[in-house]
Amino acid sequence: MPTPDLRIGIIGAGPAGLTAAYLLSKAGLDVEAWEADPTYVGGISRTEIYKGFRFDIGGHRFFSKSKEVEDFWSEILPNDMLERNRLSRIFYRGKFYSYPLDLGEVIGNLGRRQSLLTAASYFKAKLSTTATPGNLEDWMTRKFGGRLYQMFFRSYTEKVWGMPCRDISADWAAQRIKGLSLTKAASAALRPARRTPKPDGEERADVIKTLITSFRYPRHGPGMLWEAAAARIQERGGRVHMGTRVNGVERTGDGRWRVTLESGDGAERQREVDQLISSAPLGWLVNHLRPTLPTAAREAASALRYRDFLTVALILKTPSRFPDNWLYIHDPQLQVGRIQNFGNWSPEMLADPSMACYGMEYFCSSSDALWNSSDAALIAMATRELLSLGLAEEGDVIDGAVVRQPRACPVYDDAYTERRRCIRAALSELCPGLHVVGRNGMHQYNNQDHSMMTAMLTARNILAGEQLYDVWQVNQTPTILKREQLVLAAAVRRPNLLKPPVVPEPTAHRSPIGSGLGRLLQRPLLRAGGSAAARPLGPTGQQVWPTAHFALLLCCAVGHQAMVSLSYASASRYRVDKRLER
Ligand SMILES: Cc1cc2nc3c(=O)[nH]c(=O)nc-3n(C[C@H](O)[C@H](O)[C@H](O)COP(=O)(O)OP(=O)(O)OC[C@H]3O[C@@H](n4cnc5c(N)ncnc54)[C@H](O)[C@@H]3O)c2cc1C
Repeated sequence: MPTPDLRIGIIGAGPAGLTAAYLLSKAGLDVEAWEADPTYVGGISRTEIYKGFRFDIGGHRFFSKSKEVEDFWSEILPNDMLERNRLSRIFYRGKFYSYPLDLGEVIGNLGRRQSLLTAASYFKAKLSTTATPGNLEDWMTRKFGGRLYQMFFRSYTEKVWGMPCRDISADWAAQRIKGLSLTKAASAALRPARRTPKPDGEERADVIKTLITSFRYPRHGPGMLWEAAAARIQERGGRVHMGTRVNGVERTGDGRWRVTLESGDGAERQREVDQLISSAPLGWLVNHLRPTLPTAAREAASALRYRDFLTVALILKTPSRFPDNWLYIHDPQLQVGRIQNFGNWSPEMLADPSMACYGMEYFCSSSDALWNSSDAALIAMATRELLSLGLAEEGDVIDGAVVRQPRACPVYDDAYTERRRCIRAALSELCPGLHVVGRNGMHQYNNQDHSMMTAMLTARNILAGEQLYDVWQVNQTPTILKREQLVLAAAVRRPNLLKPPVVPEPTAHRSPIGSGLGRLLQRPLLRAGGSAAARPLGPTGQQVWPTAHFALLLCCAVGHQAMVSLSYASASRYRVDKRLER
């Protein structure tokens, strides 16, 4: 066990940094966190405030398969977590498509001919015997068929990542598999609305995130939770220094860690700690470490890429015109990727309940003209796009604010796995007592809950005084996922630090339809296919709605076929009966 006076330093007061600080201060350790932002804790999960209107950097659903994470949220905000129904739709070619799907609406929107063509393109893809798909376009075409890919994956995915799907690794989709099958999607879509299970036990473990119909949300946005966590840490004697950027990280001769801190006025000071936890971007960390890591690790770190993100919060003098929490905008003519309707996340996000606040979300890179446009130009463009969607009328938008979030998403290009492996090996060998956690901290596409899990396991490792858990395995394999759903304690014992995580094969030849009918159909018909279903092509956990969509089409086709067979059978029977009568 570590001595109680063990001093822990933490870079960043986002979900990962604050989770570690909370747990370690609760265990009685001396904890200090440094946060570059002068105002907000919560990192990407903060809630910004503009003239009394609150908005997230993306809407943040609180849902975890881990009971421990859910309990953590309840412990911090016992009375302020709202249970919200989910409504999010896709805007495509002037029409809205519900998610989860409404069968009548889907067929009505697509039309019978389009639906049939889409089903045909799906089967064509399934019968294809082309080589293993290496890129996302091939992977998704193989999995969903060309038409579904073009309609509902391509445009939004390319907006999010800013590159053609051909240039995105198929690993990315494969890694996001969360156990969704067509059968499950279809049955969830056809079942009467069922609430997301309460945060306990097996039932929750089997939930597919994409199909949840409700989630939790702090009444003042996610920042409320992280502000409360920071306050608790400070009550216990921990320190959270705002406006304090870590500029350098150095290993001392006696095996401790020295950080160089810069405060808002530019003054620099140094601080030594026994163990250091970093949620700062992995690439940044490696290139600010002394003694330097081997060249290969530094080159790998410099090559890690990120996607930036900006929100234009528009304030309208009229109430919201749509009931959704958020909308996906697939239309390639528009630059906006999603629209958040913050009043529908929590009414208390609005300064005035008779007004609306929409978050127009743009995925971009900090080198883009969009990112470098003036705030006024961005507000004008976002207003034009909102009007063109018919979601506001001329004169409705009365104000706006812009928030630029650099490094919102770690990019999974085709070399990221190898780069991460190289960095991880160097850190593990040369940097004892330095722990990386979180989303950018591990260059891993983690949501809040996974970012928190990495911090929870790190806290346990520190408290145990040994490397009990392999933090790198969180959010990696379905097996780990399955286990992390229940209790983290069972999650990733037996560290295997240098072994790269097992990424499920993108081309595993399993039925996308599932058991029973699916396998019956599959045997004679399908030779190729995906494993379960890809997870979101967006950053929030939007997942594979076309899977559910297609499942419904498939159900219709099968149902239609069954009806035809039944009527044929009863007609034959009728003829036989008539013959017998005669
Ligand atoms: C658009 C979008 C939507 C999302 N939606 C959801 C959702 O619905 N549900 C969900 O669970 N998750 C969601 N996420 C993911 C969630 O935001 C992240 O998983 C989470 O914020 C990551 O936490 P973190 O602590 O690892 O990193 P961050 O949130 O990035 O926090 C890191 C902190 O470290 C600070 N920092 C960095 N470098 C330094 C330095 N050198 N010195 C001092 N401080 C430093 C930063 O300022 C920041 O505050 C979304 C993300 C995005 C981009």
